[in-house]
Amino acid sequence: MEFVVGRAISLMAWDGFTVTVGADMYQGGALVMSPGVVRQTKFPGEQEFLGKGVSYCATCDGMLYRGKDVVVAGRTPDAPEEAKYLKSIGCHVTYTAPKKPDTLDADIPFVQAGKLEIKGEQAVTGVSLDGTEVPCAGVFVLRASLAPTDLLPTLETEGGYIKVDRAMKTNVEGVFACGDCTGAPLQVAKAVGEGHIAGLSACEYLDKQDK
Ligand SMILES: Cc1cc2nc3c(=O)[nH]c(=O)nc-3n(C[C@H](O)[C@H](O)[C@H](O)COP(=O)(O)OP(=O)(O)OC[C@H]3O[C@@H](n4cnc5c(N)ncnc54)[C@H](O)[C@@H]3O)c2cc1C
Repeated sequence: MEFVVGRAISLMAWDGFTVTVGADMYQGGALVMSPGVVRQTKFPGEQEFLGKGVSYCATCDGMLYRGKDVVVAGRTPDAPEEAKYLKSIGCHVTYTAPKKPDTLDADIPFVQAGKLEIKGEQAVTGVSLDGTEVPCAGVFVLRASLAPTDLLPTLETEGGYIKVDRAMKTNVEGVFACGDCTGAPLQVAKAVGEGHIAGLSACEYLDKQDK
């Protein structure tokens, strides 16, 4: 058993599951999702331009923006590191956050702003940072929690929560979910119980795959 600490930033469901955590990729035959509930609302334009300039993953999409202007909206402790990576591959990076992180590379321009609005037509053309317009081709939104449907758009939800059966199975084969992400009551006792069931169900699923 291997424990990895980090932010899952992308998920590919093909021949099992491949999860990207920072710059590393992990493969598995089953997946249990327990991301809790997303308490941060999306920025204006974020959903509209997702995949058209908005990205949640510097490692996955950074190369598409080599030589171009990008804005990193950093909301996680490791976001300055991701901004540094984007710069290292040739992106022209501007970093924005409500407060300047101590770990931000001195060469990366910083704009202090709490409000961000993503603008464009067919694709992203710029952002408004507390009213200051910054032209760019890409926006990397780096926050601690991603909505499960941002990672796996085919996931069925009900009332904003992942739909599961009593075995914690979702509508996607091999994917299980537990805890707050499956709905009320949002309490520890329920999260722990569901986690137990989801773990057993995932093991059972893997055993069947081996046959
Ligand atoms: C202030 C407060 C007080 C509470 N008090 C009580 C109480 O007294 N009693 C009680 O029973 N319950 C209480 N709760 C609720 C309880 O904390 C939750 O029901 C429980 O923690 C749910 O567990 P979970 O594992 O589903 O989600 P969480 O505990 O929210 O854990 C989910 C984790 O996944 C992480 N995550 C999300 N997306 C990603 C990603 N893409 N990659 C990597 N990690 C990710 C999140 O950052 C988070 O650390 C309280 C909640 C709050 C906010």
